[in-house]
Amino acid sequence: MLPSPPDVAGSRRRRRGRAGRGDWRVTGAGEQGGGQAPAQVRPAEHGTAQQDGDEGGEPTLRRRLLAKTKAGRLAAFGRDHPMASTNDDVRKPPDGDNHPGEYLRMDLDHDACSRAIELHDARFDGRFFTAVKTTGTYCRPACPARTPRSENVTFYPTAAAAQEAGFRPCLRCRPETAPDTGAWRGTSSTVSRALALIELGALDEGSVDALAGRLGLGERQLRRLCRQHLGASPVAVAQTRRVLLAKQLIHETFLPMTEIAFAAGFGSIRRFNETFLALFGRAPCALRRGSGPEISANPGGDISLLLRYQPPYDWPGMLAFLRLRAIPGIERVVESCYSRTIQLEGLQGIVSIRPAEDNALRARIRFPKLSALPVIIARLRRVFDLAADPLPISAHLAKDPALAPLVATRPGLRVPGAWDGFELAIRAVLGQQITVPAAVRLAGRLVARHGEPLAEPDRDLTHVFLRPEALALADLTTLGMPRSRAATLSAVAAAIVADPDLFSVSRGLDEAIQQLQSIRGVGEWTAHYIALRQLREPDAFPAADVGLMRALADLEGRRRSSRELVGRADQWRPWRAYAAQHLWASL
Ligand SMILES: [Zn+2]
Repeated sequence: MLPSPPDVAGSRRRRRGRAGRGDWRVTGAGEQGGGQAPAQVRPAEHGTAQQDGDEGGEPTLRRRLLAKTKAGRLAAFGRDHPMASTNDDVRKPPDGDNHPGEYLRMDLDHDACSRAIELHDARFDGRFFTAVKTTGTYCRPACPARTPRSENVTFYPTAAAAQEAGFRPCLRCRPETAPDTGAWRGTSSTVSRALALIELGALDEGSVDALAGRLGLGERQLRRLCRQHLGASPVAVAQTRRVLLAKQLIHETFLPMTEIAFAAGFGSIRRFNETFLALFGRAPCALRRGSGPEISANPGGDISLLLRYQPPYDWPGMLAFLRLRAIPGIERVVESCYSRTIQLEGLQGIVSIRPAEDNALRARIRFPKLSALPVIIARLRRVFDLAADPLPISAHLAKDPALAPLVATRPGLRVPGAWDGFELAIRAVLGQQITVPAAVRLAGRLVARHGEPLAEPDRDLTHVFLRPEALALADLTTLGMPRSRAATLSAVAAAIVADPDLFSVSRGLDEAIQQLQSIRGVGEWTAHYIALRQLREPDAFPAADVGLMRALADLEGRRRSSRELVGRADQWRPWRAYAAQHLWASL
């Protein structure tokens, strides 16, 4: 089930206070030496939005921080590493940021991780990174290079943590190709939201302070949380993303370096070159293997690249979900490929996704502005739920006898996300009290009458979804739906025009639900459905959904009310969204 390198002797599971609630850790066999309990990567008690434990852990956290000494850093980094020489007299144990000793709090059991890299165990891919002091690089667990000696390595929970500690990505195992489950660790939901916003570009132009503000935190609090859960600062997370995307584009495309610089989100060629020189000691182009002519993405902006995920992945399930809901003119599913039109910053494009080898999806992105690539990738990762780690979800949900067979049938099931919050909200409203095919037909009519035509249509992809401004002004009375439904559509459009952040991931589940329900005509079901697919809240659960009630009645032979369903679903927390998806898929 969960990855478990065999024969991990002597590794210990640390006792933790509330500070560690929701941390990921690589744990070993029990202290009593029973020897049978395998090491496993597992989430600790999963905090929900209400019980992050972010604040409650402060006293314990501080004690632990203060306990970190120069000796501790020596143990973590070795005598030769620059981090080890940090003088305690100069760098006081902090209450905030940038303290190297804080890395010690990463709950990565050294012995268990050592064992995993000795076995080149690919199942740990993306779950931790190995920094090698002798080479200055950081690696994936299955790096083909000779396994470094245990005393020469430090394990980090994220690539950003390793990179911030001064290590560079290995050129052999290419850490940029590890599945990126950073935004989804079942850790702090606040950190997950911060990561989602960073992925969507929050730090490209905005400051850490502004990001913290959007999350309702102070800047120091955000830094502390990121340090605690990711081992890195928010800025390091953003920078590492850029470097790894650039590296991926160098290896996987023939784009000229100037285009890669912009496509990866570097503000200038100079910054791009400097960053790579500092990290690798050579120019970016020197990292490209093999020779071939450079192929510019212009003018169409055509880029093809791989999006990795943590296996397993239920692609047929994802495709079936999208096929059933594909809006004519906007989306298309042909054989194993999903395509859709997109609109960003007033520009139009098309993305196509199909399964590829080695736990990846192949994305073909046609968009005229290269610098939008990171945002397009981030949105695709949300649509296809690529940050999810299915193993712990399955393990948790399978504890329920009703869900166990569903989980066994679809162990890689994902919750399909939304490309755009407004579009999803409109879909949700259109779907109120009618069947999915009927809602799709209405959406198709809406797009055909009020959507923007695609400047260069691609066969049956003819439009982009309409903007809120257009919908707010549109006459919806002729579409063939109840007057109240049309009024709700207009109200949703007006609400997002008034608050463009309405569907942003910055809000917690409860706040988001409350905010959405304040729109006229948006009830609890619609709000939860939006939270589930657009806000990607793993614990969202539209309990009033008739499909859910029917699916559970089929499984248990007893129909429940919506209120009873909420009680029944309690044991599925914090992954009720996945439980819901399993139930829908079973119908
Ligand atoms: Zn490596």
